[in-house]
Amino acid sequence: MPIIQIEHVTYKYGTGTPFEQTALDDVTLCMEKGEFIGVIGHTGSGKSTLLQHLNGLLKPTSGRVFIDGQDIWDKNSNKRALRFKVGLVFQYPEYQLFEETVYKDIAFGPRNMGLDEAEIDARVREAASFVGVEPGWLEQSPFALSGGQKRRVAIAGVLAMRPSVLILDEPAAGLDPRGRESILERIRDYQRKQGNTVLLVSHSMEDIARLATRVLVMDKGKAILCDTVPATFARSRELLEMGLDVPQITRVFLRLKELGYPVRDTVYTVEQGKAEILRVLKEARR
Ligand code: ADP
Ligand code: MG
Repeated sequence: MPIIQIEHVTYKYGTGTPFEQTALDDVTLCMEKGEFIGVIGHTGSGKSTLLQHLNGLLKPTSGRVFIDGQDIWDKNSNKRALRFKVGLVFQYPEYQLFEETVYKDIAFGPRNMGLDEAEIDARVREAASFVGVEPGWLEQSPFALSGGQKRRVAIAGVLAMRPSVLILDEPAAGLDPRGRESILERIRDYQRKQGNTVLLVSHSMEDIARLATRVLVMDKGKAILCDTVPATFARSRELLEMGLDVPQITRVFLRLKELGYPVRDTVYTVEQGKAEILRVLKEARR
């Protein structure tokens, strides 16, 4: 059974007002347990709106959302349990920190779940170490930390609930390259270790190529493509025509091909690029 099933979901903001806006248009998707889905698309394509449907923050104007086979808007569905099962990290989550100490902030979710102190403590420390929140910060005020450190604390607060589905809406936006790489690697390690399902919105095609197992492409409220990473970047020309980005290394190989070199244009990582160039050189020497 898929962990997430989205069936013909349409969502309109401002229904019945002159500002009515269709943000999702008949979206149907399935996600299996343990998948790492990269979500891409232009600003305004509906990515954030879609993600907010998965933990019941938004209710479809029409269509249905199932988590673990349960229709989340069914009158018997347990909304509280759903919030713990599907953890959502918003863009710029550091603005949601509010407790006196980092420890209390990370403990907020597990405490709401009604866990005992020992379990809360174990989860806070585990989540903190997953994202690189140092033990020394725990008793500090979150407001004393740098932007990147605050971001880690906010993500730890969601991980501490051990959600089966972890949703991250541009978790690395605004961080320097080293900070973004480190946060994303830690999220990937966490996902591999826990075997949970991750949805990650990112504008960086390099990040998507490196981390995701499948890619969901959103365009004007529609899910226009949801396929494996190789299958997605094999359609790089289409993505570029839509004004979307592709990994830089893919651009290099598309150009080499245009120039007449006998390279495959389905390369999407630097390692593959290296292997492909060595292959072509070897053939040429024959
Ligand atoms: P993305 O996350 O891909 O940038 P969004 O889901 O935020 O896209 O937005 C999809 C569409 O819905 C856009 O046209 C946007 O202007 C509109 N929209 C988003 N949030 C609201 C809102 N709170 N009220 C009205 N319209 C909104
Ligand atoms: Mg968004």
